[in-house]
Amino acid sequence: MTVRPTASSRSRRAGTETEQAKPARPGPRTRLFSSRTRLLGSENAFRIGPHIKALEDQGLKVIRCNLGEPDFPLAPHIAEEVKRQIDLGLTHYCDPQGIPQLREAIARTVALRRGIEVTPDRVVVFPGAKPPIGLAQQTYCDPGDEVIYPSPGFPIYESFTSYVGARPRPLHLREESDFSFSGRDLAPLIGRRTRIIILNFPSNPTGSVATREQLESIADVIRRKAPAQARVYSDEIYEDILFDGNHHISIASLPGMAQRTIIASGVSKSYSWTGGRVGWAVFPTAEEATVFKNLNINYFSCLPAYNQMGARIALESPLSQGSIAHMCEAFTERRDLMVAGLNAIPGIRCRKPGGAFYLFPNIAGLCKNLGAIEAYRKLSAADRDRSSPSTLVQMFLLWRYQVATMDRRSFGRIGSEGLHYLRLSIATGLDDLRTGLERIRAAAGDRDGFQAFLKEGKFAC
Ligand code: PMP
Repeated sequence: MTVRPTASSRSRRAGTETEQAKPARPGPRTRLFSSRTRLLGSENAFRIGPHIKALEDQGLKVIRCNLGEPDFPLAPHIAEEVKRQIDLGLTHYCDPQGIPQLREAIARTVALRRGIEVTPDRVVVFPGAKPPIGLAQQTYCDPGDEVIYPSPGFPIYESFTSYVGARPRPLHLREESDFSFSGRDLAPLIGRRTRIIILNFPSNPTGSVATREQLESIADVIRRKAPAQARVYSDEIYEDILFDGNHHISIASLPGMAQRTIIASGVSKSYSWTGGRVGWAVFPTAEEATVFKNLNINYFSCLPAYNQMGARIALESPLSQGSIAHMCEAFTERRDLMVAGLNAIPGIRCRKPGGAFYLFPNIAGLCKNLGAIEAYRKLSAADRDRSSPSTLVQMFLLWRYQVATMDRRSFGRIGSEGLHYLRLSIATGLDDLRTGLERIRAAAGDRDGFQAFLKEGKFAC
C-alpha cells in the first residue's frame, strides 16, 4: 500500500526546507503559560485565605486582620431592594455600561459631592472597583509608558503595570511625612511617558486622608508637568470611611482636574457590600466610557441588574447615611483601642489613621527583637526573593499565634526592601481585635518561639 503524503505533511516538509534557508526560528514553546502571565502580581490578602482555612480546619480560631472587608451586614433597605428586583424578574442580561437608573444615580451623587458636572454617559459600572484599575492600564498604556502609583498602596496598582508592559513608577510614601506627599514629591516622577497617575485617598493601607492644600499642590504639578493625555486615576473607594470629622475631597473638584481624572468608587466599603460586586468609574469623556463599556462586553457582558438596583438604593436612600455613620463610629472605637494597644507593645509604633479601616504599624523594633532581620539575611537567595523580615513576622503571627495580618511587600514590592511594616485591618469585631492584640503582645515576647518557627520553612505566603 502506498502512503500518500497528506497536505499537512507536505507543508511540514516544505516548511522545513524553506526554514533551512532562513535564520533559525525559535522552536515550539515548551512552557504552558505566556511570559506575560508570569508578570502578574496578586493580592495577598486573598492568597492567605487557604492558610487561614487550614488552621481553622484544625479547630483553631484565627483573628482575621487580613482582608479589607467590613464585618457589618448589608443594610436591610439595600438587601430588600435586591430581593425585590429578583422577584420582579430582573435576572437577565442588561446594559453592559451599567443600567441607566444606576448610572444616573452615580452621576448625580458624584457630581453633588464633588461640585462638578457628571453625565451618565461618562459612567461605567464594573464588577467591583478593582477591574477598572487593570482595564485603565490596558487602555491608556502602550509598552514603555509609565504608571505612577503610591507605595505602599493597593497591590493591584503595581500588579498590572508590568503585565501590560508599562513601567512602574512607585511614589514612595514615608512614615516621617505621615505617609502623605505633595506635588513636590510627585514632580520628579512625571515625564513624557507618564500615562496614569494613581491617587488613593483615603488610602489603603495607610489610612491617609488628603487635605485640600495637598491636593492643590498635586493638581498644580499635574497641570504643569503631565502630558495632556495623561490621566489621573483617583481611587476613592474609601470616600465614606472617615474619622474625627475628616471630609473627603476629590482631586476632580479642583480647577481643570475633572477633565483629566477618572473617579473610581463602589459599594464594597461604604455599604459593607463586598459580595455585591458593584463598582464604577466616571471618565473624563463619553468616548473613554465607550471604550470601557466595550471592555465590559468583552470580559463580563454585564453585571447582575438586581445588584445594580440595590446599589442605586444604597446611593440614594437617606437610610444609608445612618449605616455609614454607625460603621465609622465602630471603626473609630476599634482604631483607638488598637492604636493604643499596639503602641504599648515594645518594638511597634503605630500612627492614627484618619480614614479607611487599616492600621499600618512600623514593626522595625519587633523584627529586630525577634531576630527577623538577622534570620532574613541568612535565607537562601530564592527565599529572600519571596520574603522579607516583616513577612517572617507575618507568617509567625499567623501560624503560631493565629493572627492574620499583611506584610509590607504586599503593598508594592518595588523599593520595599528594608521597610518593616504590617497592615492590620480593623474590619473585625472588637472582641476579636482585643484577642488579636493579646496574641501579638505574646508573640512579640516570644523570640525562642520565632526561632523555632523558622525551622518549619514557612517564609512566605
Ligand atoms: N481600591 C482599593 C484601594 C481597595 O482597597 C479595594 C478593595 N480592597 C478596591 C479598590 C477594590 O474594591 P472592590 O471590592 O469594589 O473591587
